[in-house]
This record gives sequence, C-alpha cells and structure tokens, in this order.
Amino acid sequence: MSKLTAKTCLVTGAAQGIGARITEVFLEEGARVIAADLQYDGTGTGFDDTGRLNRHLDVTNPEQVAALAAEFPDINVLVNCAGYVAAGSVIDCTPADFQRSVDLNVTATYSVTAAVLPAMVEARDGVIINIASVVSSVMAAPGRFAYGATKAAVLGMTLSIARDFSDKGIRCNAISPGTVDTPSLHERLAATGDAEAAMTAFKARQMTGRLGTVDEIAAVALLMASDDATFMTGSNVVIDGGMSL
Ligand code: NAD
Repeated sequence: MSKLTAKTCLVTGAAQGIGARITEVFLEEGARVIAADLQYDGTGTGFDDTGRLNRHLDVTNPEQVAALAAEFPDINVLVNCAGYVAAGSVIDCTPADFQRSVDLNVTATYSVTAAVLPAMVEARDGVIINIASVVSSVMAAPGRFAYGATKAAVLGMTLSIARDFSDKGIRCNAISPGTVDTPSLHERLAATGDAEAAMTAFKARQMTGRLGTVDEIAAVALLMASDDATFMTGSNVVIDGGMSL
C-alpha cells in the first residue's frame, strides 16, 4: 500500500521548487493534494485523475485562507512551504522587505495552520510540516537578517504547535534545508551580478560541496507525513549537506 493512501494534503507554494516536488511525491504515494500557490488561477474543487487540485491561494490573504479551509475540512496533512528570502543585514534590510518576510514566512504559517488545525483536532488526525531553513535559530548566513529571524520564528511556532496539540492526534515538525537547487535560488544567484561566482560560493557553503535537491527535501516531508513517523513531533530535521557544522 502507498504511504499516503486516503490522505488529503494541502501544500502551499506548490507551483515550483520544494513545494512542487513535495506535491508530486505525495501524489505518487496515493494522496489527494490541494496544490496551492499564488501562481495558479484555479478556483475549482475537482481533483484530477492523479488526485491533484491546483488552486490559487495567496497565503497572506486571511479571507482566501479561511475560505479554502472551510471548503476542505478533511485535510490530514498541511505543508507550509511558501516562503520568501530577503537579502541584507539589519541595516540594509528595507522596512518593506522586513514586513514581507514577516507576512509570508511567519504570519501566513500561523494563519494557514490556525485555519486548518481545528478540523484536524476534531478528527484527532493531522500532520503539519513547516519548511523553515537552517538559516534560522540553527545558524546565521551573511545578509539574511529578515530571513533568519522569520525562519527562527517558524521553528518556534513548530515547537509551540507540537507542545499544544501532540496529545490531540496532531504531529507538527519542521524541515530546515540548507541551499537547495530551486528556481528562486537561481534568481538570487542572478541578482548578485555574477551568477557563476555566486553558485561556486553557494556550493562551498555545504560540507558536501554541492547544492541539495528537491528530492532530498521531499523524501523527508514524505517520512513526516506518513505513518512511519508516528512518534515524531516537535522535531526539526536539518538537511543541509553539513552547512551548519
Ligand atoms: P521558491 O521560492 O522557488 O518558490 C516559492 C513558491 O511559493 C512559488 O511557487 C511562489 O509562487 C509561491 N508563493 C510565493 N508567495 C506566495 C503567497 N503569498 N501565497 C502562495 N504562494 C506563494 O521555493 P523554494 O526555493 O523551493 O523554497 C520553498 C521553501 O523552502 C521556502 O519557505 C524557503 O524559504 C524554504 N527554503 C528554501 C531553500 C532553498 O535553498 N531553496 C533553503 C532553505 C529553505
């Protein structure tokens, strides 16, 4: 039997990168997946033959979040993956970038979780997976003030949710990736003005000397979502090729 048969999953930030691969792997394991992203324009409720439903969702819009949660009261697995990397030190970080980091990385993780969790608690069955980052309370990286601060908040929220709801059939865990090869990473490389040099520097941050892959992150998300991880809650799994060593 597949690992997620009969599970309904909501993945935010599902259109590209880590969220896209988690969506594919969950589908391969028999789940129905609501793939939610700003980039999608779908508003329908019908899942396709593969079990997939692409839905437009701006996770920073509380009305849209509440409407989606009301429409799908049977969500078993929530993956909070949509996120934003702001560049700059505490001095360089603009108020707009700081606010966007808080809105997308922190407030949206709170509001999507708060919208979906009550039905999970009622069913005494739910898994929440927060995609944080090793750049958080685990370690700092140069020029990642707002990013590191907001991802540290994601880890704090993960612990709090696990503390409050693990006796109610809910498991909440975080994944903290190092540098992973995704479309937005290439945008960040291009933004440096010398993408090749930036790629060399980004690879060198990992003890393994390479970037992580979306497959490597999705494999751990699958473990957390499945019944293979029924005793895992409040954990933060660092997958960083040794970046934080
Ligand atoms: P990405 O940046 O390539 O894609 C993010 C997705 O989120 C996009 O599809 C985008 O449309 C969507 N999105 C953005 N704002 C949204 C909103 N308001 N509502 C709904 N969807 C929205 O993704 P990635 O690099 O795979 O990163 C995914 C997550 O993993 C993020 O939380 C990121 O911080 C985290 N992460 C990434 C890396 C990395 O190196 N790529 C490392 C550590 C952590």
